[in-house]
Amino acid sequence: MANTDSDADVLPLTDERWRAILANDAAYDGQFCYAVRTTGIFCRPSCKSRPPNAGNVRLFRSAEEALSESFRPCKRCRPTGRRLPDDEWIASVAAYIDSRFTEPLSLERLAEAAHGSPYHLHRTFKKVMGMTPVEYIQRKRVKLARKLLRETGLPVAEVGLRAGWANTPYFVTLFKKMTGVTPAAYRERQKLDSR
Ligand SMILES: [Zn+2]
Repeated sequence: MANTDSDADVLPLTDERWRAILANDAAYDGQFCYAVRTTGIFCRPSCKSRPPNAGNVRLFRSAEEALSESFRPCKRCRPTGRRLPDDEWIASVAAYIDSRFTEPLSLERLAEAAHGSPYHLHRTFKKVMGMTPVEYIQRKRVKLARKLLRETGLPVAEVGLRAGWANTPYFVTLFKKMTGVTPAAYRERQKLDSR
């Protein structure tokens, strides 16, 4: 007697379904899966990952529906029934970083969003990408910082902040380590080069 309503587009998050998610109730697997808007990942009701914020949850009747809305299957509970290959998993983590690298991102936070353990994520990311997730984040930030230093007159501290570093001395040290020059020297050199 399920799903006979005419307005079949959205499966509502009823108390019953929400309880099933919170209790990781496997009896509901196959009846629906839930996606989390903030992470773009969807799970079986029985998934042991941390309960999402109810306001970010969207329900689907099947994994196919969730996939068609561009949600990605959780690596842990594998709602599509297939194991997600490492390459695909890491590509989704990299895409997550690409869209959020200016925010505070720790390995723990990434692992939580990617539904894997920090240790496993670190190892697998390095195997697939040739660098650790933290290195990947730092490269993205340095690239943005270089662009801001070249193209704007923003103070160095502000450049660091916009690229994702709240701590200016740390930003300057890391920038120098990765590029060989300080942010101020980099900006100066760009000015000379463009003359
Ligand atoms: Zn899951």
